[in-house]
Amino acid sequence: MKPIMPNEIQGMSEPRFAGPALDTRIIEKLTTVGCPTAIDEPTRRDAGRDWWPLSIGWAAQGSPATLPGIVLRPRHQADVEAIVAICHESATPLTVQAGRSGVVGGAIAPTGGVALDLTDLTAIVAQDDDSGWITVGAGLSGPDLEAHLARTGRTVGHFPQSFDISTVGGWVACRGAGQLSNRYGKIEDIIRGLRVVTATHGVLHLGDRAPRSSVGPDLMGLFVGSEGTLGVITEVTLATWPVAESRQQAAYSFTSVAEGNEACRRILQRGAHPAVLRLYDEVESKRNFDLDDCALIVLDEGDPLTVAAHMAIVDDECAGAIARDATLVDKWLGHRNDVSALAPLWERQIVVDTIEIAGRWSQLADLHREVSAAVAAVPGTLLVSVHQSHAYLDGACLYFTFAGRPEEAEPYYRAVWDAASRATLATGGALSHHHGIGRNRARFMPEALGTAFGLLSAIKDDLDPRHIFNPGVLGLGGTSW
Ligand SMILES: Cc1cc2nc3c(=O)[nH]c(=O)nc-3n(C[C@H](O)[C@H](O)[C@H](O)COP(=O)(O)OP(=O)(O)OC[C@H]3O[C@@H](n4cnc5c(N)ncnc54)[C@H](O)[C@@H]3O)c2cc1C
Repeated sequence: MKPIMPNEIQGMSEPRFAGPALDTRIIEKLTTVGCPTAIDEPTRRDAGRDWWPLSIGWAAQGSPATLPGIVLRPRHQADVEAIVAICHESATPLTVQAGRSGVVGGAIAPTGGVALDLTDLTAIVAQDDDSGWITVGAGLSGPDLEAHLARTGRTVGHFPQSFDISTVGGWVACRGAGQLSNRYGKIEDIIRGLRVVTATHGVLHLGDRAPRSSVGPDLMGLFVGSEGTLGVITEVTLATWPVAESRQQAAYSFTSVAEGNEACRRILQRGAHPAVLRLYDEVESKRNFDLDDCALIVLDEGDPLTVAAHMAIVDDECAGAIARDATLVDKWLGHRNDVSALAPLWERQIVVDTIEIAGRWSQLADLHREVSAAVAAVPGTLLVSVHQSHAYLDGACLYFTFAGRPEEAEPYYRAVWDAASRATLATGGALSHHHGIGRNRARFMPEALGTAFGLLSAIKDDLDPRHIFNPGVLGLGGTSW
C-alpha cells in the first residue's frame, strides 16, 4: 500500500520545521543496507507530512511539515535491524511511517532525519486456523489483511474509519479502536504477539504463546500505544473471528445526549455490547440523518442467537425513545469512511479537527459540557459537536468535532487543543481514546500521566538512550510542536 495523503503540497515553500541536513556519510551508510531508498526532494517532501490536520493546512500553503533526509523502505526484518543499528550508532532521528493516517503528527519524520516507510513489510508469516491466529508483517494494510482472511472465512473485526489507509503496525502503535469494537474489542484485546526491533535490547519477541499468560508484567503492552518512540514493530500476531453469520440493525432517537447515554450505559451494564452503538448530538443528527433530536444507531453481527439477545436488550432499554427507521444505519454504513470534505475546508482557511476523549459514565455529562464550552469559548470557533462512538461497561468515548474560521490557523488550532485538553484533564477524563498523542497532544503528557511520566521517560532512556525514535512524540526525547 502506498500511503494516501489528503491533499497535494501545493507549492515549493520551505518546510514548517527546519533542522540540520542529514550527514552525507550517514546517507551513504544507510544506502548500503540494500533496501529501496529515496533521497530526491519530492519524495522527502511528501514523507514530511501525515494526516495531522495542521499539516493539511501547511500543505495547502505549499509547505510540508518537515523535510526528512532520506526515505528507506525495508523489505525484511534484517533491513530494519541494520537501519536501527546505524541510526543508534550515529544518533540519527528515525521515524517509523506506515499508512501515515495518524491525525496527531506522530508519523512526521524530523527535518534531516530518517523516514522509515514500513509499507513493504506485508508478509503473511504464519496462520493457525484452529486457534484463529494470524501473524503478519506490520506494514500490511487493513484491506489486504481482511482479503487474505476472507479466504478462510475469518475476520479480525478491526475496522477503524481509516481502515483503507492504515496498517496493522499503525493500529498497534497508536492503540487504535475500530468502528465495530464494542463486539470485536480494541486492538489491545485483539493482539496476541509482537516482534519489535529495539536500539539497545536487540529484537524482542513478545507474547505469541497463548491467549493469556501470567509471566511478569505485560511487556507486550508497553509497545501498544508507544507510537514509534521505543522501537520498530515488525510483526504482529492477531486473534480472528469467524465471519459473522447474522447481522441486525436498529435506530432510535432521544431528546438529549444525556438521556441517550443513560440508555447506552444500561445496555452495556446488562451485558449487551452490540458492535455499533453510536449516539449523536442534535447538530450531528441533523447533519447525518436530518433528525432534530439525538440519533442512536445500533448494529450487531455474529452468531444469530447472540445478536438476537443483544438487540432485544437494546430495544428494551430504548423503550422510552422514539424508534426510527433502521435504514439510518445503512446511511451511516454508506458514508462512514468518507472524509473527502476535510482537506477542501482547510484549503478555504476553515480549521477543522476531531478530539476523541474518554470517561466513566458518571463523568460523561460533565465532560460533554466542559469540553464543548471550552472549545466554543475560543475566539473564532464556529461550531462544536459531539457523538459517542465506543461504549463500555463503565464508560464511553466522546468524539468532538470543531470548526473555526480564525485570523490565523495555527494559534487558533493550538488554543482549541489547549482548551479541550485542559477541560478533559480537569474533569477527570482520558486525554485520548484512540487517536493517540503524537506531537499534537505531547505537551499534556506530564499532566496526563502524573508521576508515571517519569517512569515512561526512564523506559525511553533505557530502550532509546540517544533518543533516535520519533523525538518529541509522546513528549519524549525532543521537541514536539
Ligand atoms: C480519516 C481518518 C479516520 C481515522 N479513524 C480512526 C479510527 O476509527 N480509529 C482509530 O484508532 N484511528 C483512526 N484514525 C487514526 C489513524 O488512522 C490510526 O492511528 C492508525 O492506527 C494509524 O496507522 P498508520 O498505519 O497510518 O500509522 P502512521 O500514521 O504511519 O503512524 C502513526 C504512529 O505510529 C507509529 N508507527 C506506525 N507503525 C509503526 C510500527 N510498525 N512500529 C512502530 N511505530 C509505528 C508512527 O511512528 C507514528 O507515531 C483515523 C485517521 C484518519 C485520517
